[in-house]
Amino acid sequence: MDCLFCKIVKKEIPAQIIFEDKDIIAFRDIAPQAPVHVLIIPKKHIPGLNDTNALDTALLGRIQLVARELAVKEKISGDGYRLVLNSGSNAGQAVAHLHYHLMGGRKFNWPPG
Ligand code: AMP
Repeated sequence: MDCLFCKIVKKEIPAQIIFEDKDIIAFRDIAPQAPVHVLIIPKKHIPGLNDTNALDTALLGRIQLVARELAVKEKISGDGYRLVLNSGSNAGQAVAHLHYHLMGGRKFNWPPG
């Protein structure tokens, strides 16, 4: 399958990986939009949130807990951070492999653009 993030999971293309367990991997975004910008993804190929179901409950929950742990490690938990999931074209999802953006180190606007 020709999926960019699956290639990162398989270490076929390089990435700055900062967390990995048997189900999840996190790496720095190649075009960071904040001082800290990390992508947290499931290792298994799921195109997007629309493609999840009740069987993914533990995986999705675990990703949020990994985000929380990484926010502490990256020293952004105190000042605040944003955890973003883009789903579909209106939201600007560019890579069809489920991923959460963990962003921090600056102030963000609300509502987002
Ligand atoms: P989205 O627009 O939500 O699909 O986000 C895709 C993200 O993947 C963007 O923030 C890109 O900068 C990032 N990205 C694309 N290619 C790579 C790569 N090879 N390594 C790390 N991040 C990447």
